[in-house]
Amino acid sequence: MISFEMPEKIEHAVVLAETIAENMMRPVSRQFDENEHEIPWDYIEFMHTSLKAMGGGGLTPSGEKKKKEGPRISFQRMAFQTEVLSWGDVGMWLCTPGGGLGAAAVNAAGTDEQKARFLARHRGEKPVFDAFALTEPHAGSAMPAEVRTTAVKDGEEWVLNGEKIFVTAGNKALVDSEGFVVIWATIDLEAGRAGVRPFVVEAGTPGCKVTKLEHKLGIRASDTVSIILEDCRIPSENILGSPEVVKKKDKKGFKGAMATFDATRPVVAASALGIARATLEKLKELLAERGVEIRYGLPRSRMTNIEREIVDMEVMLRSAWLLTLKAMWQMDEKKPNTLAASMSKVRAGDVVVKITQRAIELLGPLGYTREFLLEKWFRDAKINDLYEGTGQINRLIVARQILGYTRHELS
Ligand SMILES: Cc1cc2nc3c(=O)[nH]c(=O)nc-3n(C[C@H](O)[C@H](O)[C@H](O)COP(=O)(O)OP(=O)(O)OC[C@H]3O[C@@H](n4cnc5c(N)ncnc54)[C@H](O)[C@@H]3O)c2cc1C
Repeated sequence: MISFEMPEKIEHAVVLAETIAENMMRPVSRQFDENEHEIPWDYIEFMHTSLKAMGGGGLTPSGEKKKKEGPRISFQRMAFQTEVLSWGDVGMWLCTPGGGLGAAAVNAAGTDEQKARFLARHRGEKPVFDAFALTEPHAGSAMPAEVRTTAVKDGEEWVLNGEKIFVTAGNKALVDSEGFVVIWATIDLEAGRAGVRPFVVEAGTPGCKVTKLEHKLGIRASDTVSIILEDCRIPSENILGSPEVVKKKDKKGFKGAMATFDATRPVVAASALGIARATLEKLKELLAERGVEIRYGLPRSRMTNIEREIVDMEVMLRSAWLLTLKAMWQMDEKKPNTLAASMSKVRAGDVVVKITQRAIELLGPLGYTREFLLEKWFRDAKINDLYEGTGQINRLIVARQILGYTRHELS
């Protein structure tokens, strides 16, 4: 039976997230946008303490075992929390400690021992961050086939060399806390995708250095960095997955990356929809203050153009949310979700860009001014159509999934 009721456990998490979003995020949203690279420690400390009290070290589920009764809901809960916290402030949500993209990769590709070893730090005294570094100066979308960062085995260690760019929360993971970054490197340059593996590089490892903090259009509370790896030595057991390369047939290496994206793309979708909802709510509030109420019950032909546009935005928002929930439900049920994950990401990326842009157009100068957060949300929106695979790349994945084509047949 399909139920559209929100489970009680999710409801509790949503109420807490709403309180945080309204009281800890919105009031300082502008401050952290205007002071790029300032770290929202109050929010971080509070989240660390409350997530720990709730039994976890972050928002990312850690492979919840099937309980005797009731469905698994961790990924769906994370979607709701993410949507609400991004409604509060998406840049700050990206500063949530524990369980970032790095943890998602460890969860997707690591052994139980590795999960315990790397993720336990998120439940420690201090907030700890993690990050995921796949993109390199010469390629992003073409990854992981084009990875040039190398990992060479030397006795009981791997030696990493290369450069990674645009790493979300890289500074928090390596400089501001005792965290880690999952670095994607090749153990065999000749083998292409088959040679690519994720490696966990912990904060303080010699040879791993943050070299640049980006200045960005949006999500300015979140740090995005470049990382250089120069003869960076890590223990042999920090490789996630098998160190063996079986050319052409071996898909295990990058399977981990793909599994990570199946888990994280719907999260980005949920985040995008939080910004879109914030915008739509503010748009309706400002219109109402100016005497424009939306008459939802009217036939479309009798509505004004603004009313029709608002109704269309509601449809876009809710349909994208249902796709996102489907992708997360499939994650919870351990069903393949590549199609729904990419679909939700495409749809939510489009929806947030359209709604934030149209809100500014409809409100005119009111939308453009810094008096309101609408112009900030417009700037925060676009990243959702870029990271975790651009809109174009996710459309390709959707097409391949539907048509049953391989990447060689459709690229
Ligand atoms: C703020 C921010 C944070 C980021 N965080 C991370 C992170 O934490 N970790 C990480 O590894 N990366 C991160 N990235 C990198 C991001 O994932 C890449 O920017 C993205 O994958 C695109 O890669 P690219 O920039 O090299 O663009 P390119 O791959 O060069 O693409 C350029 C354009 O061409 C299009 N294109 C490329 N190939 C095709 C194709 N086959 N068909 C149709 N169109 C195509 C793309 O859609 C895009 O519009 C981040 C980026 C930003 C801006």
